Parts: sequence; C-alpha cells; structure tokens
Amino acid sequence: MAKLRSVKGMNDVLPEDAVRWHRLEDTFRELVARYGFGEVRTPLVESTDLFVRSIGEATDIVEKEMYTWMDKSDKSLTLRPEGTASAARAWIQHSVGGQHPVSKWFYVGPMYRRERPAKGRYRQFFQAGCEIYGDPGPFVDAELIDLVVRYLSALGIQDIEVLVNSLGAGETRERYREALLEYLRPHASELSEDSQRRLERNPLRVLDSKAPQDQAIAENAPQILDYLDEESAQHFEDLKTALDAMGTPYVVEPRLVRGLDYYTRTLFEVRGRGGDLGANAALCGGGRYDNMIKELGGPDTPAIGFAIGLDRLLLVMADSEPKPSLDGFLVVRGKELRGQALAVAQKLRDAGCRVDADLRGGSMKSQFRRADKSSAPFALVLGDAEAEAGTLQVKELATGDQQELPIEQVADAIMRR
Ligand code: ATP
Ligand code: MG
Repeated sequence: MAKLRSVKGMNDVLPEDAVRWHRLEDTFRELVARYGFGEVRTPLVESTDLFVRSIGEATDIVEKEMYTWMDKSDKSLTLRPEGTASAARAWIQHSVGGQHPVSKWFYVGPMYRRERPAKGRYRQFFQAGCEIYGDPGPFVDAELIDLVVRYLSALGIQDIEVLVNSLGAGETRERYREALLEYLRPHASELSEDSQRRLERNPLRVLDSKAPQDQAIAENAPQILDYLDEESAQHFEDLKTALDAMGTPYVVEPRLVRGLDYYTRTLFEVRGRGGDLGANAALCGGGRYDNMIKELGGPDTPAIGFAIGLDRLLLVMADSEPKPSLDGFLVVRGKELRGQALAVAQKLRDAGCRVDADLRGGSMKSQFRRADKSSAPFALVLGDAEAEAGTLQVKELATGDQQELPIEQVADAIMRR
C-alpha cells in the first residue's frame, strides 16, 4: 500500500517548530493590538466569484493558482488564495461601514495557491495581514508601512528593503496603460507567453512578470510616476514626508506593480536581503485599494492593507534562545505512588507550572532519562518519605544541586529560574 503523506507543498508543523510559529504570531498580535486592530476570522472557502472579481481575471493567482471546485450544489468554490478579498466581503456583508467610519482589522491564517513548491513557496502558506477601511490616507499608509518594519525588526529581521510606489487613481491608470501599451506592442513577440496573452487586457502585469525576457523589456518601460494625476502626486509626496518624519527607511521603485489588480495609489513591498531565502525575497506586499469595496457591491470606501508571508519570515528570522517547554519533570520512586504523583502534578499545574511526568511505571533511571530529554530544568522526585512529609526533592538537572522543599514552595522555586 502506498504510504500516506501530506499533500505536496503543504507542510506539517511539529511541536518543536510550533514554538517559532508562536513567536511570529504572538509578536504580530501584540504589536497590532497597540494600534487598535481587531481580528477578523473569515472562512477558508469562498465563492470563486469573490476572488475573480477582486484579484482580477488576468492575474497569476486567478489564471493558474487557485484551488477551485464545483460544490455538489453546482456552485464554484475556492480555497482562499489571500486574505484581503475575504475581509472586504465580510466588511461589506456585515455593514461595518455604517457603524464605524474607520475600521482596523487584522488576520492570521493559511492561504492556498497551487504554485510550484520551492523554498519559501508553498501551496499552503501563512499570512498575517492588516486592513484599514474608511481612511483615504496617506498618513495611515505611512503608519502601516512603518508597522511592518517594526514587526520585522521585533523579530530581528533588519536586513530589508522597503519599496514604495504610487499607481495613481482612475485617469492615471488609463493614461499610463495607453503609454505602456504603446511601448510594449513593438516588443510583443519577445515577451513571455503569459505576457503576450495578457498584453492588451492587462499590460501592467508585464511589469510584474518573473520571466527574464519580460523583465529586460520592462526595464525601459515608461514609469507610472510620470503619469500621476495631481491629487495622487500630492498623496505620494505626503506619504514620503510622513515616512521621513518617522525615520522609516524606503526606496521609491517606479516599476513596482505587484500581482493583484485591485491596487490604487500607494503600493509597497518589503524584501529580505539575506538569510536562507537569498536576496530579494518578497516578505510582505501591500497597497491601497480604494475602488475594490465599491466594485464588490459595498459603499464607496477607501481601504489599504498588507500581507506578510510568515513562512518566509521563518527562513530569514534570527533564532532566539529556545525556551524550555517545561518547568519540571516529576520522577516517581515506586509504581504505587503514581496516583499521588498525579495529584502533586495537578497542584503544581494549578499554581502555573508546566509539569510532566512519566506515569508508565518505569525505573528511576528511565524516568531520569526522560527528564533529561524533556528540556525541563528540574527533576521533581517523589518517594515514600516525600509523600509522607508533603515535600519533593527538587533537583537542578544541569548542576545536580538538590534540595527538599514543601510542595507549596516548589512552584515558586522552579518558576523563579
Ligand atoms: P511572489 O512574487 O513571491 O509570488 P506575491 O506577489 O504572489 O509573491 P502576495 O500575493 O503579495 O505575494 O502575498 C504577500 C506575501 O505572501 C508575499 O510577499 C510572500 O511573503 C507570501 N507568499 C505569497 N505566495 C506564497 C507562497 N506560495 N508560499 C509562501 N509564501 C507566499
Ligand atoms: Mg505569487
């Protein structure tokens, strides 16, 4: 019989590694709470329509990467490839705009894209993201970019580059589209197959292509910043001034367009420069999407958001000192004491200690072996004498130092370390 394995590109996280995931998630939650973000939890499955309408038909995600199937009720469903569309759908569905002029939401969770798996590229991967509805920016845009930099810095990820650009608003896009098409058409036959196909429908995609022949042509393409309408140009100036005021590092990258169709004005990406992923790995993408809410049937509401790829952060994050996952390991001298050992363990847990015990009734030696392996700094020995006296022998495993303490004092003693 064939061995059962996880689906290609979808990974298990075992308890040893989960600790690093907790650090990523806890740091994120603590940070965004300081800005007043509240968590939104949407389903992993949505109508296919939602993603087609928001992300855009002529994009890699919608054309090739979505897990889509026909449900038994003949409705097309899709595993979410990203979080922004689902959050916007929920925001509209629950008429949140009617209750709050500005709302700040965050999410953390798995996303699904059927990509070719590679280091830092999986078919199930995790994103942490924020969305702000109802503020046209640009100051909130700067605050959000700065938040991402602070988050990475809190994880010890300093070697990064923050790229910013503006895609302008309505008329900019039309004028730039024309100029770009004019430039690209003569090169059409040299473009990749994907780009040739999308050229007329969505020429901006060519700039975001990873195909080397496309990148070579994109290099000399006209720049969208030269086409900004006056208001968008001012918006971009104010964004840069606000970033400067906070001391947030950034580089203007006029060719940054990114893979989703819904962006307007502010666009940004954070790349890692070192670590296992190599140079230029995209760690975070974000931008303003002032038209999307309306296009999805909601009220005309400006919005901005970002998504950080947590799997990639794990690959560039400095390892912190691993914390032991237990405070003490209970060692029981004699099988008959196992029931009492349970009661002692529960008492310690009630006092806030993390305690495990080997209750299989093995020898002292084998129990000590498990204690050593457990990462607990202390072995707590319970024998007849200790049970009688209401005490435990508290042995520091690294040094061998041992002292007998009343059970009530054990929790304090081992947690103080
Ligand atoms: P890339 O250019 O690397 O394909 P993207 O533009 O498709 O990235 P976004 O849709 O902007 O990425 O998602 C935001 C972040 O999510 C990325 O910067 C990246 O860190 C992460 N990410 C995207 N796709 C994957 C994936 N397949 N596996 C792991 N992380 C991913
Ligand atoms: Mg991608």
